[in-house]
Amino acid sequence: MTYPQDIQDLGFDPEAVRAKYASERDRRVRREGAEQYIEAAGAFARYGDDDPHARGEDMREPQKEDIEVLVVGGGFSGLMVSAELRKHGIEDVWIVEAGSDFGGTWYWNRYPGAQCDIESYIYLPMLEETGYIPKEKYAYQPEIYAHVQRLAAHFGLRDRVIFRTRVTELRWDEEIVRWRVTTDRGDAFGARFVINATGPADRPKLPGIPGIESFSGKMFHTSRWDYGYTGGDTSGGLRKLADKRVAIIGTGATAIQVVPHVGQAAKQLYVFQRTPSSVDVRGNRPTDPEWAANLNRGWQRERQDNFNAIMNREPVAVDLVQDMWTDLIKYMPRRDAARPFDKQAASWAELADMQKMHEIRARVDTIVTDRFAAEALKPWYPRYCKRPTFHDDYLPTFNRPNVTLIDTSDTRGVERMTPRGVVVDGIEYEVDCIIFATGFEITTGAHRKLPISIVGRGGSTIAERWVPDLSTFHGHSVHGFPNWFFLGGGQNGLSANYTSVLAAQAEHLAYIVKEVRDRGAIAVQPTREAETEWVQTIRALATAAVEAYAACTPGYYNNEGQIGEGKGRALGEVYGPGLNAFNRLLKAWREDGTMKGLQLEMPGITALPRTAAA
Ligand code: NDP
Repeated sequence: MTYPQDIQDLGFDPEAVRAKYASERDRRVRREGAEQYIEAAGAFARYGDDDPHARGEDMREPQKEDIEVLVVGGGFSGLMVSAELRKHGIEDVWIVEAGSDFGGTWYWNRYPGAQCDIESYIYLPMLEETGYIPKEKYAYQPEIYAHVQRLAAHFGLRDRVIFRTRVTELRWDEEIVRWRVTTDRGDAFGARFVINATGPADRPKLPGIPGIESFSGKMFHTSRWDYGYTGGDTSGGLRKLADKRVAIIGTGATAIQVVPHVGQAAKQLYVFQRTPSSVDVRGNRPTDPEWAANLNRGWQRERQDNFNAIMNREPVAVDLVQDMWTDLIKYMPRRDAARPFDKQAASWAELADMQKMHEIRARVDTIVTDRFAAEALKPWYPRYCKRPTFHDDYLPTFNRPNVTLIDTSDTRGVERMTPRGVVVDGIEYEVDCIIFATGFEITTGAHRKLPISIVGRGGSTIAERWVPDLSTFHGHSVHGFPNWFFLGGGQNGLSANYTSVLAAQAEHLAYIVKEVRDRGAIAVQPTREAETEWVQTIRALATAAVEAYAACTPGYYNNEGQIGEGKGRALGEVYGPGLNAFNRLLKAWREDGTMKGLQLEMPGITALPRTAAA
């Protein structure tokens, strides 16, 4: 293995960069960690409960019935697992969804400029099955939302869905061998299986800024965009902001897409930044019809696997996606399959990452004319400490005379809010409207992330079981919680292309449910030993990742800088060898056919002790 460039030619001193990374990190870490954020609950409940897109009847009769499978959530994960269950001939599948239509994150997030930063050909699920080819390389929210509807129609999922309803409690009932499911609409289901598909970004969070409740103007979170106030739609045209002074708090992947539209429309825009995102070239373009006409069967899976392999630094013959995510490949040393954690390769990978970030910082200088703003917009951390972003209009927005960047890094965020506006470094910025682009409860603990009370065998709850750390078998089930599964990140394979994570999980869970039924079992759960062993496997393979995240600038990837034993693991809790390797592991598990690690309970035979799970 040779590093493609001589270390002398880097154009920067790695030692100095390392020191700068550490100092930029240290000035941002906050003692309160993830607790700095305000939950969308109590006095702030409206930030999560309000539905600007609500349609249909507000009142309905509660539903009470026994069903086979209940899926909580009608976003991509809920749709995909329901579709897979249908494919396996399991028809009695009901979806309960909080929004008034399918879509999940793409239902709620309709802010101006909302777009998926992953290539549409790999992100939009089941393109081959539905026969759809996206219009552009990077799809905007309306096209993604339309694809959600296409999936629902294609798999006939509209027959059994309950919208505008939140599941409030799941309680395992030993007598009826079912989950008793209750909702905020008074429904009462007895469900044989329950699959949680509530997604990672379903609950918005607010910044813990002193005085937040005192602001007398308009406030909303990006995931509940108020077009009644701003005018326009997801494509922009926010004409009602023409006489408004607006503050956007946060500069993550969402703000990067929002800022150009608000900057164009508002009388004055203040962007309050704590940590700059890395903003790379987007380069969107229409789909080439000739390319689309010549795709071979299996192309989407091949493209997804290829992307995942590149992102995991596995050797590949070709880069099919060729964008600024996979661009890093040109610098990166490949992982040696036999020695995945080779120290030499790791240090070269670090240099490659530094080179990429050096380019990204240099790009800021070529675009942003104000020197102060340009310096503040440069990200000083390894690329994967935060979600990388891609936009061609974000940085130029700071050249507009009506747009001002307010750097809050010295005060570790916005200092306070007043009835009139936002204060940083003692200066009050008076505004009419504050938009929170402050993200979601993605990696906060179960007590904040999962507002559903899940009560398993013997009264044990998931909220208790997952303190301080997650514990699962293959990232989908937990001992003591029979017939309960979930999709999403945590102790399984992860990819920036999140739908390819879900695709494999949906397929796998549908297989398990089908097998349990075909084998005549009434309940299934992982054995305590299998769960313990899996957690140990994950932790042993994740040591390097946890160390890397611990050194990162704070954010939700690293539990706001507090990661490790007893503190929570955030994105350090994934299968180290990568998503493709994890999917191979699941495939081998299915092919083995013994359902190793899962314990099946037959009617009349209690294979499992009916005691509280420890
Ligand atoms: P993030 O959590 O990424 O960003 C929150 C922002 O708010 C950060 O810039 C944070 O600063 C800032 N912030 C928080 N508290 C304060 C404070 N007190 N004062 C000032 N600033 C503050 O949320 P996003 O909504 O941007 O993105 C969430 C995730 O959603 C992404 O990471 C991505 O996974 C997903 N997403 C995906 C997209 C896609 O195209 N696929 C598009 C948009 C989002 P700091 O960084 O210092 O913590």
